[in-house]
Amino acid sequence: MALSMEQKLALNVYKLDKEAHITIDKSACRRCGDKYCLRVCPAHLFTLDDKGDVDFNYEGCLECGTCLISCIECALSWSYPRGGFGVEYRFG
Ligand code: SF4
Ligand code: SF4
Repeated sequence: MALSMEQKLALNVYKLDKEAHITIDKSACRRCGDKYCLRVCPAHLFTLDDKGDVDFNYEGCLECGTCLISCIECALSWSYPRGGFGVEYRFG
């Protein structure tokens, strides 16, 4: 039986770096009307807090870069995790 996308993502292993490899400039996010990051991140790591500000958690990042190319306000400071950290893809 074919695995769902959620089941496939659950196979991945993450080695978490205490240093965030992606950070967001929240003041830029407040100017951003479309907030594409909320919709394009395949791991759903961008959310809105109670005040309507964008919140971001780098844990579980798939390192795909989609958020970077979709951020029209250039609010992201984006890099790959340091060597030895980040996602390790597993294919079952
Ligand atoms: S798309 Fe960029 S500027 Fe807009 S809310 Fe997301 S991270 Fe912030
Ligand atoms: S690199 Fe991909 S998985 Fe990581 S936060 Fe950006 S869109 Fe989400």
